[in-house]
Amino acid sequence: MGIKVAKFGGSSVADAIQMKKVKDIITADPDRRYIVVSAPGKRFAEDSKMTDLLYLCKTHIEHNVPFNQVFQVIWDRFKIMVMNLELDLDIDPYFVEIKRELENGASNDYAASRGEYLSAVVAAKFFGFDFVDPKDFIKFDDNGKFMPEKTNELLREELAKHEYAVIPGFYGAKLDGSIKTFSRGGSDITGSLVARAVNAEVYENWTDVSGFLMADPRIVPNARPISKVTYKELRELSYMGASVLHDEAVFPVKEANIPINIRNTNEPDNPGTIIVGEDECVESDEIITGISGRKGFTVIGVYKDGMNSEVGYVKRLLTVLENYNISFEHLPSGIDTVSVIISTTKLEGILGDVLEDIQKKMSPDSLEVSQNLALIATVGHGMIQRQGVSATLFTALYNAGVNIRMIDQGSGELNIIVGVEEKDFETAIKAIYDAFVEKKVLNGKQD
Ligand code: ASP
Repeated sequence: MGIKVAKFGGSSVADAIQMKKVKDIITADPDRRYIVVSAPGKRFAEDSKMTDLLYLCKTHIEHNVPFNQVFQVIWDRFKIMVMNLELDLDIDPYFVEIKRELENGASNDYAASRGEYLSAVVAAKFFGFDFVDPKDFIKFDDNGKFMPEKTNELLREELAKHEYAVIPGFYGAKLDGSIKTFSRGGSDITGSLVARAVNAEVYENWTDVSGFLMADPRIVPNARPISKVTYKELRELSYMGASVLHDEAVFPVKEANIPINIRNTNEPDNPGTIIVGEDECVESDEIITGISGRKGFTVIGVYKDGMNSEVGYVKRLLTVLENYNISFEHLPSGIDTVSVIISTTKLEGILGDVLEDIQKKMSPDSLEVSQNLALIATVGHGMIQRQGVSATLFTALYNAGVNIRMIDQGSGELNIIVGVEEKDFETAIKAIYDAFVEKKVLNGKQD
């Protein structure tokens, strides 16, 4: 069998009890040779994540407030973990050094990275694996831009020297050796990089859910699990709100055609969700793969008679957005209208100025703004060239009394996106789920 890379998230390494589950998972399969760990996460709902506490230390230092107390909480948590795992490991010298570095002005990234670092030191000792520090192998250039090829080369060379190793997630270093982290949740990216470097058979991403569900269980309580999803579908689903995996974690393994398997440390027998390339995707009876969505969008609608014959009119609208550094989500247009859909947070504090500029540069007959729009993506490669998909979707929404404000179907036919009032968001998702998955709407009639 090939090599398996297993990444364990914060909840999987939150304390000694969780660490023992991780060890059981690893020892159950000797192909699990390279283990990436996050910093200890929350043990219960009100608990703090180690990474947040480390950032907090740094904030204290920046404001000249003593950070001893917060630092001690972190120290104690690791000490207790080491004690409960009955390890012959003295963690104190690590903390003495980290404290000294922090007092001497170590960076935010250095502070944050120590959670993963210590987590891996403990895990390596507990599993009897080598410890590999990514600061020497995961590289960023002087501007902090990640260097994929250099990283791949260095990691490949180094990991070949270790039969079994634990690697801290989340960080690497710039060429000058200073620690640099990925964005939050970035241990997923480390796992993906390691999987690519060792050409793994599978990248297992162990977390606290058994993979993806077809819809948010807070809206659809019995939402079915997704057993297989393609990278592309996943990207659509996670962009729209289904968050289990870091957005950027897909790229390195996708390139190498390595499947990602989302698994649950607390339910190791559950096969979870497997994420594959298009080629491996066998046809299934399911028309859709999943539904996800987000609230918090604003529509700016521009109307002008004769718009369709005016060259460059829409460009002016996009130039205004560009000048304000605003990216947009959708740009539906009609003969004399064009609307742009933007995440409301991007307009905070500048909406008035943006509208004024549009008015000035475009002289529209009318300019309308409506807020509180939610977008819902119905995603699935099974929708391609299948008749009646839109009919089912729109009938379901009609029957549920949901008014559709916008429709967008990408040319890839992988998804249909609808915009609805925020108040209809949950109703709409439920209706779509019932129609496609429970098959409750047929030919326009409710069962
Ligand atoms: N510990 C980091 C965070 O909380 C990275 C990670 O867990 O993936 O964001």
